[in-house]
Amino acid sequence: MGTTVFERRQPAASIIDRSLAATRHSVFWIDDLPARLRPDRAALTGTHRADLVVVGAGYTGLWTALLEKQRNPDAKVVVVEAQRVGWAASGRNGGFCEASLTHGHENGMARWPNEMDVLNRLGRQNLDEIQASEAEYGMDFQFERTGQLAPAVEEHQVEWLREWAAEGEEGVVYLDQDEVQASVHSPTYLAAVWEKDTCGMVHPARLAAELARVVEEQGVEIFERSRVTGLDTSGTGVTVRTDAGTVAASRAVLATNVFPSLIKRNRLMTVPVYDYVLMTEPLSGEQLASIGWADRQGIGDMANQFHYYRITEDDRILFGGYDAVYHYGRKVRPEHENRPETWRTLASHFFTTFPQLEGLRFTHQWAGAIDTSTQFTAFFGTARDRRVAYAAGFTGLGVGSTRFAGNVMLDLLDGVENERTTLEMVRKRPLPFPPEPAAALGINLTRWSLDRADHDRGRRNLLLKTLDALGLGFDS
Ligand SMILES: Cc1cc2nc3c(=O)[nH]c(=O)nc-3n(C[C@H](O)[C@H](O)[C@H](O)COP(=O)(O)OP(=O)(O)OC[C@H]3O[C@@H](n4cnc5c(N)ncnc54)[C@H](O)[C@@H]3O)c2cc1C
Repeated sequence: MGTTVFERRQPAASIIDRSLAATRHSVFWIDDLPARLRPDRAALTGTHRADLVVVGAGYTGLWTALLEKQRNPDAKVVVVEAQRVGWAASGRNGGFCEASLTHGHENGMARWPNEMDVLNRLGRQNLDEIQASEAEYGMDFQFERTGQLAPAVEEHQVEWLREWAAEGEEGVVYLDQDEVQASVHSPTYLAAVWEKDTCGMVHPARLAAELARVVEEQGVEIFERSRVTGLDTSGTGVTVRTDAGTVAASRAVLATNVFPSLIKRNRLMTVPVYDYVLMTEPLSGEQLASIGWADRQGIGDMANQFHYYRITEDDRILFGGYDAVYHYGRKVRPEHENRPETWRTLASHFFTTFPQLEGLRFTHQWAGAIDTSTQFTAFFGTARDRRVAYAAGFTGLGVGSTRFAGNVMLDLLDGVENERTTLEMVRKRPLPFPPEPAAALGINLTRWSLDRADHDRGRRNLLLKTLDALGLGFDS
């Protein structure tokens, strides 16, 4: 078995120790919000009526509320959130806002080859509309359409990049070793593909907070700290219930993502896979000059266990990924967010990538649950005589596609047949994950196999090939 560049060029332990000595366990993005974007909202009490009730105030719920107000300005919309607006994945992600609705081109081609032209066009349109919404609604979520760079950090990955570039997709540029190192100065880069137009970078917590602000200005009511515990469809509409109140509405949207679904049959459709992140202090002008990165792309390397990193508006570097950890029992729990060994691994890989930044410190460390489904992208549907719609399972790529999901759910509730609702990707449900202990066994074996493939020139073992053939898998 071979080694990876991160093992061959490991920095000294003292460099890692120093970089993590004063790191806070806290989500940088949320700490970075101005107070006016974090208003304390009331909890739901008493009885309320609405046309549409949305459960969950992450991107999926908030985009759905905004899109509903666009479609029906007079509609009364209520959003009920168990904790705070954007506290979960929506407030703590990498901020890569991609056009892809299928968790990447390859995954889409493997599953819905006949639909990819439409899916690519709809995805691009969705991204354009997200970008335009900043000006349209006077929002500031620091959108930068910089595209995404995929560097090869092992020889066998260079071949993958050549094949990718040869497909001739619009806006995809191949950079050889000199070109990529001239762009971003990492000694680990052997070549790269730069997808110039299909990704923008956002400030994740700002995106959620700004959406909440805008929908409230349009009359949407948001209740926080109000966990919905039941759905009642015995009457003509749908009533959602918390311990202290109810909302009776004509229709409901469930935007609860990786959390236990209020629809029983969806409970086995997603598993939380924990992903870990570091944020550095702001780089000085000299430090910035030492890494280049003038085009400020999002970067995701080509390994199966990949790292993603990006630069913030105030020139910090967010560095995350690699370890994707599944905890037995598929629960979302704060204690799963604490994993010092993973932050050490990430710090080590950071200084392998940018050895010239030795001495830089990490100010924040955090983790979040990736909303994994077996098809690596969201599934959609309705329940209870089409009074309830749901979408979940974005598998680590929901910053852009949650808005698309909002449109799909509203279409489904309306019962309209259009380009979105007739997609096989929308109509067909993926396979569920098996219950425990099979889920943990399967997921951890898959992870082990992916790690082995990274150590063995990318070669996929029998298990991975079988999962590929079944259209099943595990990713983050
Ligand atoms: C560390 C990390 C990095 C990521 N990086 C990227 C990235 O760079 N690019 C990308 O595209 N995607 C990324 N993702 C994935 C992306 O963040 C998610 O796909 C997206 O935020 C999902 O949005 P959501 O609204 O569906 O879910 P969430 O943000 O999880 O929101 C769901 C909300 O529903 C609420 N809720 C749940 N149950 C109830 C209930 N019973 N009653 C009331 N409220 C309830 C929750 O409290 C929560 O606020 C990342 C995820 C993580 C964790």
